[in-house]
Amino acid sequence: MDIIFYIVIFIIGACLGSFYAETIHRIDKGQRVFSMYRYCPNCEKKLSLLERIPILSYIFSRGRCKKCNKKIDKKYILLEIMTGCLLVLIAYGLNLTISNFDISKIISLIFITLYISYIIITSGLDKRNKSMSMQLLSFGIIISLVYIIYLCFVDRVTVYLNIIHLILMTILLLLNIINTKKKAQSSYTIDLLTTLLIMLIFTQEIACIITIIGTLISIALYILINKISLRKVKGKNNMLEFSQKVRVIYIMGILNIFSFITLIIMSKIY
Ligand SMILES: [Zn+2]
Repeated sequence: MDIIFYIVIFIIGACLGSFYAETIHRIDKGQRVFSMYRYCPNCEKKLSLLERIPILSYIFSRGRCKKCNKKIDKKYILLEIMTGCLLVLIAYGLNLTISNFDISKIISLIFITLYISYIIITSGLDKRNKSMSMQLLSFGIIISLVYIIYLCFVDRVTVYLNIIHLILMTILLLLNIINTKKKAQSSYTIDLLTTLLIMLIFTQEIACIITIIGTLISIALYILINKISLRKVKGKNNMLEFSQKVRVIYIMGILNIFSFITLIIMSKIY
């Protein structure tokens, strides 16, 4: 019975992964996020119902779009499989089974899924174009606020901590609005800090500390490797260009998901 339950969870996760891939593509292209139909990322032609089935449609079409015959990037199917597995691991970590069905665990699973949605799409956008969508940031802030309100009702001990989170969130939001009005685009640093705060609210201190340390080590390694490779290119100092290439939110997102899931499975949190 539990196997069927986990298969259902995996399918939901794979569908979400498919949605994330398309959302990243749509936001990056400046299109509407929610649309009635899905399309091929290459030719942007409408997909049929069968072509929308995650993973299976990729296998049956042998990784090619039926309309333009172009190869579909493997990252799409990888994201579907990865999200499916992530959701199964979260359900497993929460000890959520048919025999152990608990409404509070279902609520936790929904909140974690919403958070994971925010972090995957944000990381994907950062990896693609180092861009951030105001809509997406608003989504992150709204789910954080709803989660804080929920926590205040469930666990009264964390109320004060959540009020601090709330104040910090308001300050960052105001800074973002001022910056967007001044420069017509949001600041990467403010987006980064807001994402870090959302991370802290959902994944708590330990996962965040691991994430920050891991991100700093990754950036140091990245700079070190590129500095070494830059020495080979004579006369050009592209360090500034390299610093702009470092995708901090992307690195942070990946590390946070892995540390968070590991901690849930180890039953340290949630
Ligand atoms: Zn196509």
